[in-house]
Amino acid sequence: MTSQQTLPICIAGTWRQGGGERYATCYPATGEPVAWLNAASLDDVEAAVQGAHQAFLHSGWAQRKPHERATVLYRIAGLIRERAEELAHLQRQDNGKPINETRALVASAAGTFQFFAAACETLEETITPSRGDFISMSVYEPMGVVAAITPWNSPIASEAQKVAPALAAGNAVVIKPAEITPLLALQLARICDDAGLPKGLVSVLPGKGSLLGDALTRHPLVKRVSFTGGTRTGKHIAHIAADKMMPVSLELGGKSPTIVLDDADLDHAVAGVLYGIFSSSGEACIAGSRLFVARALYEPFMARLTAAAAQLRLGDPADERTQMGPLISAAHRESVERYVALGLAEGGRLRLGGERPQGGLFDQGYFYPPTILEGLGNQQQVCQEEIFGPVLVAMPFDDEAELIEQANDSLYALAAGIWTRDYKRAWNLGRRLQAGTVWVNTYKQFSISTPFGGWRDSGLGREKGRLGILQYMEQKSLYWGMNEQPLAWAGVEAGQ
Ligand code: NAD
Repeated sequence: MTSQQTLPICIAGTWRQGGGERYATCYPATGEPVAWLNAASLDDVEAAVQGAHQAFLHSGWAQRKPHERATVLYRIAGLIRERAEELAHLQRQDNGKPINETRALVASAAGTFQFFAAACETLEETITPSRGDFISMSVYEPMGVVAAITPWNSPIASEAQKVAPALAAGNAVVIKPAEITPLLALQLARICDDAGLPKGLVSVLPGKGSLLGDALTRHPLVKRVSFTGGTRTGKHIAHIAADKMMPVSLELGGKSPTIVLDDADLDHAVAGVLYGIFSSSGEACIAGSRLFVARALYEPFMARLTAAAAQLRLGDPADERTQMGPLISAAHRESVERYVALGLAEGGRLRLGGERPQGGLFDQGYFYPPTILEGLGNQQQVCQEEIFGPVLVAMPFDDEAELIEQANDSLYALAAGIWTRDYKRAWNLGRRLQAGTVWVNTYKQFSISTPFGGWRDSGLGREKGRLGILQYMEQKSLYWGMNEQPLAWAGVEAGQ
């Protein structure tokens, strides 16, 4: 991209300049601008929501038969696939993830539209067992205008996860992408247009969350918010939602434990632990950032893990071989550095990393190496707070009771990983770990057909799964009277 031209944004079916301040999105590998755009203004929020409401009421989308809505969603999936390479490179520039990773995110977005197209055309409503002279049914209706508020770490995949089920259910959607990564959401809106989705059903509002996301959440015509982002923002949204009696789904932060038992297959465990924390440079809600290793295995395992981590290829996101790109911004790298300094001040030792790499691209972008801290306890701040970077804290454990207590001792409860050859131990441990997702002998694997979400401060509600579409629908019960006689209570008899 890299043009001084101001990109239009998509509001209520028209592509035009936002009414807010002009700003540039930057490529985190170089700090250079990728695109310029005007943020949306509060007037744009109003226009987008009103436009979405009108499109919901008058475009006929909600009334289309499920298989007809599905046809458009399949087309969206097809267009994402046709434009996959272009989208993957744009996403690489938007948030600095390595190209192989952004290709996977684009593929996942296409798969999500395909999946919810199928969920839409196969969703069944039920005739419930009758307890009287009536037929009783449970049916589902779309809600109206839905807000999708997304973070910067996995654009297009995050948006697809919300937009696909919301549209499949018959709603209109207003997307509020992260201020610094708006480009893929805008491309998704283009694709929706090109696939023939009625105008106005999708709008995109780039800009500050505290202004636009907040206004969107408070808007009386917004009937549901699906949010992915930080726990603090999620709680703020939950408060607003409580006042409006509006349902929300909140996919929030994490501090996930990965556990290596003394009988683990070490090749698998090393590869899985590395992938769990260092892929996406640790900028993942499900990053396995607390490592618990059986004490007997601790030293040999850490030696292997550290040697393998030191070999990870940090560098140019455009290079096919790169495993870790830069962090999202200078400010975020500074925050990660502050956590590492805090870990050291808390008595930790650096086993690996901890210093900015230097030379070439490293001097331009926001790179940070794989970093391993040890010598710390689970109670310390670096084990309790989400760092959202490539920082692993490793701790030995002596017995499973202590392990479970520590692994569960966190405000977060998003995910966990277990490495063992013993399926009974895995089962017992897996059932006792408090987390929305537990991986056994694998990590960070996803299927759109499996529900995802967190417990406690990691979130509320579940996304994905065939029934994920129901989050965007209101349930309604219908009763059909089959009485031969008028209802007895009034004492009226038939034919009188
Ligand atoms: P963030 O909470 O700062 O922002 C997320 C989105 O909310 C952005 O679009 C932002 O503009 C908007 N926002 C900010 N303030 C708002 C407000 N007052 N009202 C409404 N919207 C507002 O999070 P981030 O820094 O963009 O993303 C990183 C966080 O996201 C991490 O904590 C990470 O764990 C979490 N995350 C969670 C999941 C999950 O599925 N659980 C997935 C990815 C990221």
